[in-house]
Amino acid sequence: MLKFKSFGSGSSGNCYYLSNGEDALLIDAGVGIRALKRYFKEAQLKIDNVRGVLITHDHADHIKAVAHLANDYRIPVYTTTKIHEGIRKSYCVTENIEAEYVKLLEKEQETEIGCFSVCSFEVPHDGTDNVGYRIRTEGKTFCVLTDIGHITPTAEQMIKDANYLVLESNYDNSMLEMGPYPAYLKERIGGENGHLCNTDAAKALAENYHEGLTHVWLCHLSEENNHPTIVEKCIGAHLYEIGLIVGKDISIEVLRRKVPSDMYEL
Ligand SMILES: [Zn+2]
Ligand SMILES: [Zn+2]
Repeated sequence: MLKFKSFGSGSSGNCYYLSNGEDALLIDAGVGIRALKRYFKEAQLKIDNVRGVLITHDHADHIKAVAHLANDYRIPVYTTTKIHEGIRKSYCVTENIEAEYVKLLEKEQETEIGCFSVCSFEVPHDGTDNVGYRIRTEGKTFCVLTDIGHITPTAEQMIKDANYLVLESNYDNSMLEMGPYPAYLKERIGGENGHLCNTDAAKALAENYHEGLTHVWLCHLSEENNHPTIVEKCIGAHLYEIGLIVGKDISIEVLRRKVPSDMYEL
């Protein structure tokens, strides 16, 4: 049985936990190490079971705790060479990851980590380098598409492959447009290499839906330019158009920004 839990999702910090009951992976390490330790304890999880942390890109909200996890807890850090370079240069990582925990991934290549088969792939965003992940275990496929400015053919393929999907749904178009952000920031977020809006997330789901896709978690919601009820309404409407009822035909959950999610047993 697979288990999934979010420890935080959004610009304040991203970190996801995936386990088969024995081996576990973390995807991103953007939640502070003290909070992370507390969340593990509260959920009765063991950090010792984490076989690796996969990093999507080098923005602070994805890497804050990465050196602690590596050097203090001996967890190998897997990502591309460029993202590792970005982590080394980042203002928010004060300690370098010790060499033995630096593990390099090539995009589009399978790497075995514990009982997981992991494949990273390019996504359009504005970190030093940016990847999503496809993780396979026990005949199931779990995909993570976060911090993705627009949906690429590769991203579409990942949705088609996924049984379980974490998908960014960052902002509502009109809230971003009418909201308080300065023009340059609106442009960055709404740009090709920025974040994904609710409508694009909804369209991507509706266009690439298949019966094997049973669970979707919408992630990285903006605090200022989005709201869970708006996301749910938007996604629900698009899926209804292709004949799907959320909660019956497919499970859709919105991940909260600063609060851990339930533990989902899949
Ligand atoms: Zn982010
Ligand atoms: Zn980012």
